[in-house]
Amino acid sequence: MSKQVIFYGAGQYARENLDRWLANGLTPVCFADADESKHYKRIYDQSGKAYDILSLEVTKALYPDYELRLTLAQRNLSVVYEWLVSQGIPPERIKCADQLTRRQGCPYLDGTFQLFSHYFWVCCYRPQAITVHYENIADGFTDYLTTVKTLTADISAGKPTSCDGCPNLKEGFWSTEYTPKCIIFSTDFEGDGCNFNCRYCHTVQWLGNGGRPYPMKNLQEVIRQLSEIPALDKVNLSFADGEVFTRRDIAEVLALVGGQEWTVSFTTNGSIYKNEVEDLIRAGRVTAVNISLDAGTSETFAKVKGVDCFGKVAGNLKKYAALGVPIDLKYIMLAGLNDNEHDIDSFADIAASVRAHVWVSGDQHINSERLAPRALAMVLRLIQKCSRRKNFIAIAAENFHPLDLQIIEAAVKDMQTK
Ligand code: SF4
Repeated sequence: MSKQVIFYGAGQYARENLDRWLANGLTPVCFADADESKHYKRIYDQSGKAYDILSLEVTKALYPDYELRLTLAQRNLSVVYEWLVSQGIPPERIKCADQLTRRQGCPYLDGTFQLFSHYFWVCCYRPQAITVHYENIADGFTDYLTTVKTLTADISAGKPTSCDGCPNLKEGFWSTEYTPKCIIFSTDFEGDGCNFNCRYCHTVQWLGNGGRPYPMKNLQEVIRQLSEIPALDKVNLSFADGEVFTRRDIAEVLALVGGQEWTVSFTTNGSIYKNEVEDLIRAGRVTAVNISLDAGTSETFAKVKGVDCFGKVAGNLKKYAALGVPIDLKYIMLAGLNDNEHDIDSFADIAASVRAHVWVSGDQHINSERLAPRALAMVLRLIQKCSRRKNFIAIAAENFHPLDLQIIEAAVKDMQTK
């Protein structure tokens, strides 16, 4: 007898994707949701057919041979899965409406890679992670795909891999098939640079090729080659590290990106504002602007960044917010520099005013050391402040000592369940 499919999660994501799941052959008997305010209401598909929203208990009683299909955005799946298991739902009865399966994985193995002048990098921070060298993008991408699929299969088979011990490697819901989602450009292409001198920065050594024994590639040419690969025609291009807006050819680079179907995100220090980016934002092509602010006051900002322009960055943040583009605002906790209440509280106010997603991180160069007690307390204070204001919080797990990470993740979980 076939299972009775119950869609679990009756929020906006479910409403937006119901017709896609139906078209893929999933036919639910109803929706279930923990939110009582949704019970006995309905969700309608494109044809006008209604699906009741019921409590979990009622759906289980009505459909004893049920199978739950999670109809939630990927970032919410694990928390809900764990809650459902804690409510006595057998794990084998919980699946996902999207093409995701429960296994070991990380966001990089799930479709993101970093692109340097001479190699694809599976990861974006672990030196031991696999690199795939290339001369031209098409051949390199083929090699890269083979490599990452083998790596993922080895992890699932429990074989030793370069990902062993990584805090990002977690049991969760990850894609059933490798689908490229995001390409992060590194900063070792011809013409890359930066106008800041951040205390924690590791990128400066790469700018201008950093004395590496290979030639820099031309970024525009690499983008052209990427545009010729059909499997990459819908990815997000992420310009990260350094300061992409210092490139002399930035207008041409943005025009090349704008001429394709890609979306784009920028990791910028926020000091340079480009009207061409505003055009891309208005066209709905920019998925995020990421700024590592690391301070809440001008004085601390100048000490951390080596440049005194806090007001200018804060002003540009407001411009981005006015355009409605999602903003990720990062705070890298640096003991003795920005680990004080005044900076934390002011940063939290700024994040709230621009409706930013907040990223909290340690200094990746000293992630093998525990945070000083005061710095750890300030991380927790920031999480608490942002959670109260409903700012989404993310943790750069790889940049914290494992013991600090345990404390921080417990605090985040605690906030999420309140
Ligand atoms: S080392 Fe960690 S972050 Fe990097 S690809 Fe492997 S699991 Fe992902």
